[in-house]
Amino acid sequence: MSEAYRLGLVGLGKIARDQHLPAIAANGRFDLVAIASRNAQLDGVARHATIDELIAAGHGITAITLCTPPEGRYHQARAALEAGLHVMLEKPPAATLSEIADLARLAAEKQVTLFATWHSREAAGVASAKAWLRDRAIHAVRITWKEDIRRWHPGQEWILAAGGFGVFDPGINALSIVTQILPQPLLLERAAMGVPEGRMSPLTASLAMRSGDAPVSAEFDFLQTGPQSWDIEIDTDAGLLRLAMGGSELTLPGAAMQKAPDREYAGLYARFAELIARGESDVDVRPLQLVADAFLVAERQTLAPFEF
Ligand code: NAP
Repeated sequence: MSEAYRLGLVGLGKIARDQHLPAIAANGRFDLVAIASRNAQLDGVARHATIDELIAAGHGITAITLCTPPEGRYHQARAALEAGLHVMLEKPPAATLSEIADLARLAAEKQVTLFATWHSREAAGVASAKAWLRDRAIHAVRITWKEDIRRWHPGQEWILAAGGFGVFDPGINALSIVTQILPQPLLLERAAMGVPEGRMSPLTASLAMRSGDAPVSAEFDFLQTGPQSWDIEIDTDAGLLRLAMGGSELTLPGAAMQKAPDREYAGLYARFAELIARGESDVDVRPLQLVADAFLVAERQTLAPFEF
């Protein structure tokens, strides 16, 4: 097998520790040699305060993975692409559509790989759901994505700042799944969102969309205590398809529920290696377009002040 890609990682926060570090260690095609972190250290791995210092130090790296919040990620990605490095972006790929368009253009110019990841598309039930839906008439789609911000994002003040996406940070995962599995493109028709007083990004959102003739509704709630929901239900001419637990559990009409161990980030790193080897990029902005459209047309409601 060819040599492993020497990798740098930027932003050692929750997702980097929970998912990226174990997935990189298990992959074998990537060798983590340096991190850029304002605060954290990692045993046996060189540390720099910023991506610019990491790049300047060399380390012989060929690829960078960015695990920072979306606001500010453009400048980090741009620095890596300018240096001729392959880049993997956490979702959402950038804070704006013009940023990600410019990064895709730059990656093509530099002839390096840009991979805008959507981890939920790697969930166990998603590929089978897409295959099953290909020949079905779709009557209606209902998305219910309700989680407790205090439980899953403790202290992440950035998520409610401008450019933090608010409840669209988890909600865009649902949109990444439906844009992948529905045969017809999605259009946003109406939206409403609730923004807590003194904050910039929403804690609640409702979207009315359409895919072909089928209405597609989405309810996003960041204040859900008790049972958490990451569910998509699709009414078809052959019965109800249900994807639950973020796409990891699939139930087809008349069949038992199928589920498999979580391999989302293993799938992302395998794909990153494949894209680099083929000299390709993968930048699908459709989930981000729908979120941007929601911010364009939504009716706003002010909610009570929120503290973590
Ligand atoms: P997090 O725990 O807040 O970590 C983000 C890290 O980025 C921080 O620890 C910090 O690392 C670095 N950073 C650089 N500039 C920052 C800034 N201005 N504000 C805050 N942190 C900054 O966030 P996360 O949950 O890992 O999320 C990071 C990205 O991964 C987001 O785009 C999110 O949507 C995505 N993601 C998160 C999850 C999840 O379950 N949490 C799941 C999938 C994807 P240093 O201190 O090392 O500099």
